Amino acid sequence: MSATVYVGLGSNEGDREAQLVSALEAMSRIDAVAVLRCSSLFESAPVGPPQPHYLNAVVALECGLPPQRLLCILKQIERDLGRSPGGQRWGPRPIDLDILLWEGEVVADPNLQVPHLELHKRRFALEPLFELAPEAEHPVLGMTVAELLSQLAPQDVRRCEATQWPETLLPVTE
Ligand code: ADP
Ligand code: MG
Repeated sequence: MSATVYVGLGSNEGDREAQLVSALEAMSRIDAVAVLRCSSLFESAPVGPPQPHYLNAVVALECGLPPQRLLCILKQIERDLGRSPGGQRWGPRPIDLDILLWEGEVVADPNLQVPHLELHKRRFALEPLFELAPEAEHPVLGMTVAELLSQLAPQDVRRCEATQWPETLLPVTE
């Protein structure tokens, strides 16, 4: 059975947009996964230690894999794009792929929590997610993405123009 899954992408090291595009291409090649839609790009001030600004986006996937399997593949994509395991938590990274929401599913495993535990606090995840799914419901908090966003304090997150990332919300074609 497949589900709609929202994955957050972030990069603040190297050619940030190229890395988001590489991660998108890698996700589109996963068996039993289809990329449905992409958000715009957003630039955001970092959380944690001082470091360069992030470029963020969210993609909607149609996913026929179980959550742990998708996580494992996303971590492999992070490694393939040059992210060293054991890097500083919240430190600079070429790519970060987080499972934000999984339609109809709550996961509370030691290594995987879905919805992502920080989702409701992070404008850099909620703003792009809002573009794709304003009415999607956070199954633990019982609020929609639009409601979560409206109760959040301002944060330094700005929509920005893309040069390589798909410009529109249309499906990505191979
Ligand atoms: P963060 O994304 O919080 O900055 P990392 O990317 O270094 O931190 O992730 C640390 C760990 O978080 C991963 O090894 C993964 O097992 C775990 N994790 C828990 N829930 C999720 C989720 N929803 N999506 C991705 N990783 C998750
Ligand atoms: Mg992560």
